[in-house]
Amino acid sequence: MSIDFRSIHSQTRLYNFHSHTQYCDGRASVADFAAEAAACGFLHYGFSPHSPVPVASGCNMSMADVDAYMADVDDARHRYDGQLQFHTGMEIDYLGPMWGPANSYFRDLGLDYAIGSVHFIPAKDGTLVDIDGSFERFSANMSKYFDNDIRYVVDSYFSRSLDMIAAGGFDVIGHFDKVAHNASCWQADIEEQHWYADWIDRMLDAIISSGIIVEINTKSYARFNRLFPALRHLPRIVEAGIPLIVNSDAHEPKLINASREYVFGLLDGIAAARPHQQNPS
Ligand SMILES: [Zn+2]
Ligand SMILES: [Zn+2]
Repeated sequence: MSIDFRSIHSQTRLYNFHSHTQYCDGRASVADFAAEAAACGFLHYGFSPHSPVPVASGCNMSMADVDAYMADVDDARHRYDGQLQFHTGMEIDYLGPMWGPANSYFRDLGLDYAIGSVHFIPAKDGTLVDIDGSFERFSANMSKYFDNDIRYVVDSYFSRSLDMIAAGGFDVIGHFDKVAHNASCWQADIEEQHWYADWIDRMLDAIISSGIIVEINTKSYARFNRLFPALRHLPRIVEAGIPLIVNSDAHEPKLINASREYVFGLLDGIAAARPHQQNPS
């Protein structure tokens, strides 16, 4: 890892390390995002296209486009040299032991950083199914692939996430409880279940042991009042001293800073409520 996320986060709020351009499912070019980042006065901007995957997916970039992606970020670097730093990242899908951030393919790309994320889980027949995205599609897949078994889906999501952490090869874990949104649309009180809370405990333990960075992902806050990880977990993450960054996961330039100030305010509030952390003066 060549990026000191801890020091960047401690020094400025003008950064974002999670965004998607037309190389995957985003809706604008690298140049358009770069122009917006410059106009907003950002000091660090990271691109994180959905990685190539060895399964059919309309949301992931193709291997054939990786060189062009890296060249586009180089162009942005030259255009805004001295004003802000651009970083070539990737949001790498963990699909199981055969494909994920730890694969040498990704290590050899020369990326500046990697986000590890789980969007796909295996159906009971082994088919990899994307459980991210709209609840309409999730709901249709619940009957098509999962026998309407929400416990199986949530268990598989977190089990895969723990496997991904154990395999390593990435710097930041993407939206580590993303399944919470669709799963709680399916069963409103799912996050209150003791078995669900156990998964969060296991995730936090694994994250702490691994030293990876947690992102607070604001993509769904404006629309669904949802942060990933959920707001309820933030005090624990801060108390545990887990390094974190605040990312917008923007798919269009106007959203690169969306809901991020709100989260910085929450983090300030949590920090202020920690009396034992105050320095004597
Ligand atoms: Zn994602
Ligand atoms: Zn993303």
